[in-house]
Amino acid sequence: MKNKIIVLAASICISQNLFAQKYTYSVDALNITNDKIKVECTTPSVSANTTVYHFPKVVPGTYAIEDYGKYIEGFTAFAKDGKELAVKKEGNNDFIISNANMLAKITYYVNDAMDKHVKKNKIFEPASTNIEANSNVVMNNGGFFGYLEGTENTNIAIHIKKPSGFFGATSLPQTSFTDNQQSFEAQSYYQLVDCPILLAKPDTTKFYVNNTLVTLACFDRSGKARSAYFYNELKRDMNGIAQFLPKLPVDNYTFIVFVDDFVKWGAIIDQKRKPKIGEIIPLIKKFSKLGVGALEHGNSSLYYLANFGDSMKTKDLHLANQMTGAAIHEFMHIITPLGLHSQHIGNFNYAKPIMSKHLWLYEGCTEYFANLIKLQAGIFTKEKFLQEMSGKIKAADKYPYATMSFTKMSANCLEKEYNKQYIHVYDRGAVYAMLLDARIIKLTNGKKTLKDVILALNAKYGKTKSFEEDNLYKEFVAEVGSGLQSFFDDYIEGNKNYRLSEELEAIGIVYQEEAEVDAPRNPINTALNDIEIKDGAMGIGNSKIQSVGPNEWAGLKKGDKVAASAYADAFKKEGQYVAEGETVNYKIIRDGKEMLLPIKVKYAKQKKYDYLASLEKPSEQQVAYWKKYAGEQ
Ligand SMILES: [Zn+2]
Repeated sequence: MKNKIIVLAASICISQNLFAQKYTYSVDALNITNDKIKVECTTPSVSANTTVYHFPKVVPGTYAIEDYGKYIEGFTAFAKDGKELAVKKEGNNDFIISNANMLAKITYYVNDAMDKHVKKNKIFEPASTNIEANSNVVMNNGGFFGYLEGTENTNIAIHIKKPSGFFGATSLPQTSFTDNQQSFEAQSYYQLVDCPILLAKPDTTKFYVNNTLVTLACFDRSGKARSAYFYNELKRDMNGIAQFLPKLPVDNYTFIVFVDDFVKWGAIIDQKRKPKIGEIIPLIKKFSKLGVGALEHGNSSLYYLANFGDSMKTKDLHLANQMTGAAIHEFMHIITPLGLHSQHIGNFNYAKPIMSKHLWLYEGCTEYFANLIKLQAGIFTKEKFLQEMSGKIKAADKYPYATMSFTKMSANCLEKEYNKQYIHVYDRGAVYAMLLDARIIKLTNGKKTLKDVILALNAKYGKTKSFEEDNLYKEFVAEVGSGLQSFFDDYIEGNKNYRLSEELEAIGIVYQEEAEVDAPRNPINTALNDIEIKDGAMGIGNSKIQSVGPNEWAGLKKGDKVAASAYADAFKKEGQYVAEGETVNYKIIRDGKEMLLPIKVKYAKQKKYDYLASLEKPSEQQVAYWKKYAGEQ
């Protein structure tokens, strides 16, 4: 992609013919049998005797092996005269075609991956494929289309035969639409894979985030229309993004949402019913590998959400929270890596991928910005924001920084040993970004933030131009000053642990490994209340109070059922503790009925670990730098 203009100019000079070369795909979503779709392709002409048609081993953003070729069946190649050409499959993804200079057409069937039980390399659902006749087709295009070796930049036309009334939602440019066919075009294979398509009956809501037209397209297995509901839930966060990024780098954006039906399982998780014998093992199997979440693309993102029922007690499992928990993060990927990336992403090698070492930038900064946006838009209070970052510091403690630098983990993240640590891009990666932000503010005397630097580099590079993998730090240093180099040498490339207080002091934040904090007593904390308690099944349901002593202070009784999440619901408002002496309503189940128990708030000194707090007496400069940090000036 980096050399696109040069490549185009060269092809015009060499041959008029080459410019006319393109792929024309025909996808028959009208005749689906056994969750399989037939694909036909008129190929560009090939001059070599032998060629390879590749399906991706990996696609960008997943940092895991997909092996889409495993789900391709009946791959056949044809010469111009209609005769079959010899094809040999090599490995999971490559079809080697003999007499390729005769090649005119290929056909194959795509079997869907989402419902398959595979032991190794199960595809993360948001990157997966699903095919159901007269219901939905989830087209992550790496699973539907491949490419002939060396033709990643060839134009592609796609014609999808579809049931009447169906609509393909995607960020791909549409070239025609009739009742039974919808056509798209892609400039390159990169663009095709970057634009998933959801084919289903339309359920869409459109809105603007500054200059960007956003389409939210949903499919819910239960048949419920969801797009307006999700839009309503996302509105506040989208306004936060609009405030954070006054000019967005894309004209249009598509949220593609697939809602799967787990209502039957939700009742068990929520302890509304006991699992039947024979249900427990499938339940564990299903959820141990279930990939609820999302995958980002240049101007879209695809969500796979699990509907456990609208009345789930566990808030994180609410559909709305699954959506809002991911959406800001995914949307912010338009900045990194999609608008700022190294050559390993810009010229992604689907067959033999080379992973970039800069996951701290692509995932860490994105996750950090997703939180910072909430602070700057007033969705998070300062306390709530610091709490979120404290949580990340705590989770990041488990990262083996002394033996595995962050860049080493990133560059090798397809290997098992490193992949195990990948999860830390979301915690430790985000902490790095916070520290980097503070360091930049300090080194520029409050003139620049991390956002300013990244947006400057984004303007310099953008979607189609890659930075050199090894030059990134130089680019940052050029924007900020030489004092920044040691940040990368020590923490990102090196094996030193971060010095949190030292880095955060500039913005008036102090870190304590262990702190004593005044906070409301939790009525079910057995160290702070005279009760005995038994943990609920799976740790997220209700716990039963087994006995109550004479010093019980909150009004709990033996046999009451309580959930751990009830504390935050009752004792926190907008992330901040309610004041001592106030009365809160605490949710319990008594005699089988849900009720709100009024409790007078009592404070106690409590231990907190990995605690971030505001300095008690910040200097004028620290106050000013915090304001810059929090977007208040
Ligand atoms: Zn991400």
